[in-house]
Amino acid sequence: MREMTPSASHTPMQEQYARLKAEAGGAFLFFRLGDFYELFGEDAERAAPILEVVLTSRETSPGVRAPMCGVPHHALPTYLARMLARGLSCAVADQMEEPSQARGLVRREITRLLTPGTVADPELLEPGTERVLVAAAAGCLAVADVSTGAVRVAEFGPDPGGGRPGPPSFDDAAVAEAAEHELHRLGPREIVAPDGGVPAWVTRYVEASGAFLTLRAATDFDPEAPARAFPGAPADAALGGLLAYLRHTLRGDLAGMRPPETYRPSAFLALDPAAQRNLELVARLADGGAEGTVLSVLDRTMTAMGSRLLRFWLLHPLQDPETVGRRQEAVEELARRPLFREGLRDALRGVHDLERLAARAAAQRVTPRELLALGVSLRALPEALRALEGCASALIRAQVAAVDPHGEVAGLLHRALAPDAPAHARDGGIFAPGYDPELDDLRAAGAGGRDWVARLEARERERTGIRSLKVGFNKVFGYYIEVTAAQLRSVPGDYVRRQTTASAERFVTPELREMEERILGADARALRREQALFAELRAEVAAHGPALQATAAAVACLDVLAALAAVAVHGGWVRPRVDRSGDLTIRGGRHPVLEQQLGPGRFVPNDIRLSRRGDRFLLITGPNMAGKSTYMRQVALIALLAHVGSFVPAEEARVGLVDRIFTRVGASDDLAGGRSTFMVEMTEVARCLRQATSRSLLLLDEVGRGTGTLDGLAIAWAVAEDIARRLGARTMFSTHYHELTAAVERLPGAANAHAAVREQGDGVVFLHRVVPGATDRSYGLAVAALAGVPEPVLARARGRLAGLRAEDGVALAVAA
Ligand code: ADP
Ligand code: MG
Repeated sequence: MREMTPSASHTPMQEQYARLKAEAGGAFLFFRLGDFYELFGEDAERAAPILEVVLTSRETSPGVRAPMCGVPHHALPTYLARMLARGLSCAVADQMEEPSQARGLVRREITRLLTPGTVADPELLEPGTERVLVAAAAGCLAVADVSTGAVRVAEFGPDPGGGRPGPPSFDDAAVAEAAEHELHRLGPREIVAPDGGVPAWVTRYVEASGAFLTLRAATDFDPEAPARAFPGAPADAALGGLLAYLRHTLRGDLAGMRPPETYRPSAFLALDPAAQRNLELVARLADGGAEGTVLSVLDRTMTAMGSRLLRFWLLHPLQDPETVGRRQEAVEELARRPLFREGLRDALRGVHDLERLAARAAAQRVTPRELLALGVSLRALPEALRALEGCASALIRAQVAAVDPHGEVAGLLHRALAPDAPAHARDGGIFAPGYDPELDDLRAAGAGGRDWVARLEARERERTGIRSLKVGFNKVFGYYIEVTAAQLRSVPGDYVRRQTTASAERFVTPELREMEERILGADARALRREQALFAELRAEVAAHGPALQATAAAVACLDVLAALAAVAVHGGWVRPRVDRSGDLTIRGGRHPVLEQQLGPGRFVPNDIRLSRRGDRFLLITGPNMAGKSTYMRQVALIALLAHVGSFVPAEEARVGLVDRIFTRVGASDDLAGGRSTFMVEMTEVARCLRQATSRSLLLLDEVGRGTGTLDGLAIAWAVAEDIARRLGARTMFSTHYHELTAAVERLPGAANAHAAVREQGDGVVFLHRVVPGATDRSYGLAVAALAGVPEPVLARARGRLAGLRAEDGVALAVAA
């Protein structure tokens, strides 16, 4: 039947639309109608400009027109992506039966509800990045990645398990701050919070990141709810809110989600957003790009899930030397034994995104082609395990023990699926011959019929003597025999006219009609049989979902360890000693990214020696472009990588645990973020002075540059003194205020260093080497000359410099 368009009045379809729209709960409703997904009313008016489609209207009742727009059904993912990128949620209403089979109104249901943080469709996700959804309530935070089924609950506050005692003043403000920083590390696209109870730290994150805030009823955030969904789950309001929201977006089905795991953000080295940004761990400072980041250097993983785990490790450096040691031991063994490493990496080449496939399998959302990829991946696992036979590392052995290649599932998928299984189950052609006798029979019947038709043309040409006679098929009229107008006289008596075209007549014979029924009947039955078999197969695989997810997690870990080993081998990195000493000693350290960009032999290695008992505050002077910022960042990166369990770009390194890395980079370097104001600089300095402990690592690059010379110097001076005298934290402090070098000589545990240059005639050559002691010249004029400032201007500057030097004593007296 021909369906009517929905509107405010009351045809059955209008009622159906109204019901689904209500169910969509504020999401845009994409309503399948023929070959299009249509939007109506206000949805259409708002979506048309975003989708860049024409807004039309349709008569819904006599004289009443409703706005409407639509997108072709096959292009839906592209359009959904556009909506999601703007934070707009979408519900997709599909036809649950063939329109041709439907009696009356076609049954429609919402099959998917997509929101920016819960979308799990492979075509809408980036392979190497988690799609994180966070639910937050006062003092608590829960995290989910629907695409992998991972659910985690963050625990803040002092560690109840004894262990290391929490900081003495772990109050609400500290929890709020820790939670805010954790948000920056996790990078959620969407945050769910209770309506009327959005924590201030969530609001701040949303403003800073452009993430989307979704408000849900406060009653959803019920701490008792999680235990009802997952026995033993912690009583946590955020987790309650998370699960309620997932239930809403996943249409009530949490089968793909794993039981929640708890973790303590305080178990990781604290990285505030500024540090994450300034160290360019996963995003470039200038434009947020992925190239030229630390992650891009490290990421030699072979699988998407390995890539995601590596990113997590990098942003969550560990805080205990034992766990670090276990990772290092694994990396070392894989670095030393190329057969283990490359054997594993070769085998992993055949492994698809097992983690996401397993989640989709568990949720019974896999397509035939995805099941094919799952089977292929599982069959690659035994080779990966064989490659690691004889490994001694405890961490590797634990992962090997956790990998289950699921031989039976793999065998079943191999037997069942056609090697070219389709992207959508509805298309049929899913199963391999020999898997199901009934399906084989139906297919044979169809094929036999088609064979008969294929031979019909030759037979009929001979019988009728019409050489131009053709046998064809079209969707509306089915099989036919076509005879041109000129030959109609030769048509035999048993031909029945079916259709007339411009130049020919089309006929059937009773025999052909019967065969056609046989073929179409067999095809339809074969398709139905395939659907039933596919549902069975999917359910069978889903039963293994959780075990597959566990296997995927272990494979991801092995992949990361092998990647770190490969980086270490190819970059000439070493295993750092990580302990609780409070030292930071690096010989021959390099900047992992810059070294790679410059190419072999071009980067100048540098040393550092900071120690709790000796000098821990290093004041670094030297001209612009001499390599100060690079030096400071490379030291911080080496320290951070050591906490990850990675090897480090150095000849030798000893890293005493760092609880937190603070960075304050020079205003001149931070322009791209639009955060160059002195206020921002001081905010970061303030945070550092208030929150750093004696175990922190501080990078202060050109403090005081954002204001006038005298107050800038005064502030830099006081900050340096406070850090050296009170905090005693390991600190690198670069400055262009040479006046500070003399002050440092008098501070406890403080020393001078400078980035060396060689004078050459009037100019300078940057050596990029940081050496002990102060420098008293900034070579500003030499740098200006290098940069091409015209000679008359330089000459005038030289003259002024001499004049100013004569008055110099005045400024220094004020500053002191
Ligand atoms: P500063 O902070 O002293 O102004 P930077 O650290 O920004 O200087 O370094 C300026 C440039 O010098 C860098 O962009 C890089 O190209 C080069 N450079 C810095 N350190 C090294 C090094 N150790 N080896 C080789 N080149 C370096
Ligand atoms: Mg600099």
